Amino acid sequence: MKFKSTRGNSPELTASEAILQGLAPDGGLYVPKIFPQIDWKSWNDSKSYSEIASDVISPFFENDPLQKEIPAICKSAFNFPVVLKNIQDEFSILELFHGPTAAFKDFGARFLSECMVRLNQSEKKLLILVATSGDTGGAVAAAFHKKPNTQVGILFPKGKVSARQEKQLTCWGDNIASFSVNGVFDDCQKLVKASFESDQFKSQYNLTSANSINLGRLLPQTVYYFFASVLYFSRTGKKPVFIIPSGNVGNASGAFWALKMGAPIEKIVLAVNSNKPIPDYFETGVWKPMPSVATLANAMDVGNPSNMERLLNLYPELNELKLVSDSLSVPDSKIEQMIMETYRSFGEIICPHTAVAEWVRRKYYHDQPSIIVSTAHPAKFETIVEHLIEMTIPIPQNLSDLLNKPSIFKEIGPELTQISF
Ligand SMILES: *Cc1c(COP(=O)(O)O)cnc(C)c1O
Repeated sequence: MKFKSTRGNSPELTASEAILQGLAPDGGLYVPKIFPQIDWKSWNDSKSYSEIASDVISPFFENDPLQKEIPAICKSAFNFPVVLKNIQDEFSILELFHGPTAAFKDFGARFLSECMVRLNQSEKKLLILVATSGDTGGAVAAAFHKKPNTQVGILFPKGKVSARQEKQLTCWGDNIASFSVNGVFDDCQKLVKASFESDQFKSQYNLTSANSINLGRLLPQTVYYFFASVLYFSRTGKKPVFIIPSGNVGNASGAFWALKMGAPIEKIVLAVNSNKPIPDYFETGVWKPMPSVATLANAMDVGNPSNMERLLNLYPELNELKLVSDSLSVPDSKIEQMIMETYRSFGEIICPHTAVAEWVRRKYYHDQPSIIVSTAHPAKFETIVEHLIEMTIPIPQNLSDLLNKPSIFKEIGPELTQISF
């Protein structure tokens, strides 16, 4: 099984090679040459999530050095619950926040780390540098914590992340070094880029990145769409519409790939905040990225979604895309309203990102079989949610474990010379 670049100007690679490479040399993103068809109808109730994961992911690793390891990788990576909660007869919520850092980024980060650690057989340590202002840094830190022969550097802009977010970026120690950078997010990103060109780093480490375009983060995000759609289909006899809170479109790309692999999915709806190049594209057929604007659903504040290139590659014609998909934008006022109403109607406390999807469901899909995707635990966004529902959100065990650890980090200026381990 081989992967090609969306720009068509790079050699085809196996999954492992594409995972280590990250971005293709022509600047494109790796996508499968063909989509294997998954025989989900033969699954029975006793199949565990990690066994489903192995069935879905293994075909991508045919004739790959990791082929035989995929079942063990899935077992280690997906060792937390994935919950499909039925709210009404034909309305369910897919909760993807039961991993160690309470957001769906744990799926991609944990699978990536299990693959990379097995692939790095060299004497040199693997060095993973991440610039972060949200959930990715915490998930990557958690996934690589105490892994052998690996060093992680987390760079976040000082004073620009919430107290609980900062805790998740700085509570690790051991092989995870956290840097509070005097600057903005762009300065952190520039440092990561500069490190890839630094002779000192290159001679000492095998440098790699863990950002959201990495194939190793995308493949595991196909699995929960199989898991949820098959479970839903066997319960209701109907294919669900998935409504997905979207930013860089990595999560939703998993759904499109699952659809191509034969999962029983009716439609994929990209729910976005006030950053709306995607709904505009659905309306006008013109792809026009924009500068990002700040919203309450800040993990989705993306004006130029990196994985859109994968989606446009999969559906070059807008008409084809529209047959299976739609996209709608939701302003902050509706996010707040949905957090309140969802608690009042169903007793469910949802995060601001999930609220974006719920508003789209209520307005456009309330009479269709549907699943909204819940991307983070609301306790991660307590400063937004608690005053709306007028109560303190109980903190789940996974999150309180992290919040109770001491913080360790170095404060640095935005210069490469200040990064050391
Ligand atoms: C990253 C993130 C998103 C957006 O996911 P994409 O894959 O970037 O579209 C939505 N919600 C939360 C909580 C996130 O952390």
